[in-house]
Amino acid sequence: DAVVYWMRMEDLRIHDNRAFSQASAQAIRDGIPLVAMFILSPQDYVAHDRSARRIDFTLRNLRAIRDKLASLHIPLYVDSHTPRTTLPSHILGLLSQWNVSHLFANIEYEVDELRRDIKVCELAKKGGRVRCTFVHDRCVIPPGIVKTKEGRGYTVFSPFFRAWAPHLADKPDPLACAPTPEPNAKLIHDHKTFGELFHRTIPDSVEGFELTTEDAEQMKICWKEGEDAARELLHRFLYTKSRPSQLGAVDPLSDGSKVAEKNPKDSRVGKYNTARDRVDADTTSRLSPYLSAGIISARECIRETMELSNAKAKKVDVSRETGIGRWVQEVAWRDFYNHVLAFFPRVSMGRPFQEKFADVQWETNEGHLQAWKDGKTGVPIVDAGMRQANTMGWMHNRVRMVTAMYLVKDLMLDWRLGEKYFMETLIDGDLASNNGGWQWSASTGVDPVPYFRIFNPYNQSHKADPTGEYIRYFVPELAKVRGDDVHNPPAKLAEKLGYPTPYVKHNEARERAIKRYKNPGQA
Ligand code: FAD
Repeated sequence: DAVVYWMRMEDLRIHDNRAFSQASAQAIRDGIPLVAMFILSPQDYVAHDRSARRIDFTLRNLRAIRDKLASLHIPLYVDSHTPRTTLPSHILGLLSQWNVSHLFANIEYEVDELRRDIKVCELAKKGGRVRCTFVHDRCVIPPGIVKTKEGRGYTVFSPFFRAWAPHLADKPDPLACAPTPEPNAKLIHDHKTFGELFHRTIPDSVEGFELTTEDAEQMKICWKEGEDAARELLHRFLYTKSRPSQLGAVDPLSDGSKVAEKNPKDSRVGKYNTARDRVDADTTSRLSPYLSAGIISARECIRETMELSNAKAKKVDVSRETGIGRWVQEVAWRDFYNHVLAFFPRVSMGRPFQEKFADVQWETNEGHLQAWKDGKTGVPIVDAGMRQANTMGWMHNRVRMVTAMYLVKDLMLDWRLGEKYFMETLIDGDLASNNGGWQWSASTGVDPVPYFRIFNPYNQSHKADPTGEYIRYFVPELAKVRGDDVHNPPAKLAEKLGYPTPYVKHNEARERAIKRYKNPGQA
C-alpha cells in the first residue's frame, strides 16, 4: 500500500502545502510509504500558452524539491504524459501499479484541470480502491467562502475585499501553516517498487519548450529556484529598503539591500502605498513567479506581513493608506481573480466577461502586433515594458497596465492576442491574474477600467518613471536622452537615434477606441 501526493504546477513546495501535509499524515497514520508525483503534460502547456520560461522554472524547482524530499525519505516521481485526454487513466494506472490507497492533491480552478480531476475521481470510484482527497490551498481565503448576499461570487473588487478581510480572523485560522511532511518510513529506500523512484532523473527540458542557453542563464539570475529563495525575497520586501535604479537582469537577493533599521515604515512594504507605482526603482516584492508556481504560499506571505504589523488581535491592517494594508490588498486581488475563475469559468474560455463587448471590432495588423511584442512601437514606456518582459520574463504591474491598454485601445488589437503573448513570455504567467489584468485593461472584465478612461501613455510615463531611468535602461536607443524627451522623443531626434516613430497618434486612437466600444459590431 502507499499514499500519493499529486503535485501540480501551482504548488511546487513542501512547506505549508495542505494536500502534501494531509498525505503525509495519512501515510504516517497508516504506516505506509508516501510518494510525491508530478506528471508533465506538454499538450496542456501548448493548449494553455505556457511559456518555456515557466516550464524551465518548474523543472528547476522540481529538482530542488526532489533533493529536499530525499532527506524525508519521500521519492518524487516525475514523468511526462501525452495525450492529455488519457492523463486520468494513466494516473489511475500508476496508482494501481503502486497499490495506492489514497490520493491527495490541491485543487486547480482552471476548467480543463477541474474536468481532468473529476475524471480521475470517477475512475478511482469505479475501481473501488483509491480514495481521492482534493483540498483548497491556492488562495488565502478559498473560493466559495466570500460570497454576495445572493450566494454568488463578487464581480467588483472593493466589496469583495471588504467581505474578504474579516475572514482572516475566522476560526479555524485560515492562515494557519499546514504541518510540514514528516520523514517517512526509511524502508521505502529498500522497497522493490519505490526504492528505484529515488534514482529517476528529472528531464532538462520539455520538447517544444526549450530555452536558449543565454535565456536559461538570465532566468536563473533573476529567478532563483526553491522555497528558500522565495522566503528570502519575502523578507527582503518586508525588512529592507528599496534601492533606486535596481533594474534589469540582476539577482535581487544579492543586491546588498540594507535592513530597514527597526522601523518597518522604512522598508519596501512600509513604503509600498506611495512607491509601488514607480517603475524606475525596485519597490515591489517580485514574488509573483513564486506565488504563481506556489513556491511560497499566499498564506505565509500574509501571515508574515501581519506579524510585522503587530496585529495581535488578528486584525490585519487593510487600509489603503498604509504600505502593509495596500500590499495585503494586492495579494487579495490574486484571490479575487481566482474566485472569479471558480465562479465564472467562461473567463478561461476566451470570452469577455461582459458579453456586450464581444463584438467590438478589432484591427488586424501583424506589423503593429509584432512591433508591440518587440518593444518597437515608438512609445518609450510601452517599449521599455515589453523589452523588460522579453528579457526578464517579468514586468512591473503599472507597465503591464500601460502596455496592455496601448495594445487594445491605441493599436485597437484584440486583447486576447496580448493575453496570449504575456502567457508565452512571462515566467509568472497565470491564467486567473493574466486574464483578469487583460480584461481590466480591455474594459471587458469584472470591475474593469471604464472603456472611455483611456491611459495617455505619455502621462503614465511621466508619473511612473519620473527620472526616465527605466526607459533609458530598457531602451538603449534612448540611453543618452535627457529630460522630458525620453518620454516622447521628437521625430527628428528619434530618427537620428534609430528609434521608431509611433504608428498611431494617441488622441486619434483614443477617439477610435471610444467609438468602437460605444458601437460594438461597427468599425
Ligand atoms: P507586488 O506588487 O509585490 O504584489 C504582491 C503579489 O500580489 C503579487 O506577486 C501577485 O501575486 C499579487 N498581485 C499584485 N497585483 C495583482 C493584480 N493586479 N492581480 C492579481 N494579483 C496581483 N500577475 C501574475 O502573477 N501573473 C500574471 O500572468 C499576470 N498578468 C497580468 C497581466 C496584466 C495585463 C496586468 C495588468 C497584471 C497582471 N498580473 C499578473 C498582476 C500583477 O501585474 C503582478 O502580479 C505583479 O506585477 C507582480 O509583481 P510583484 O510580485 O512585485 O507584485
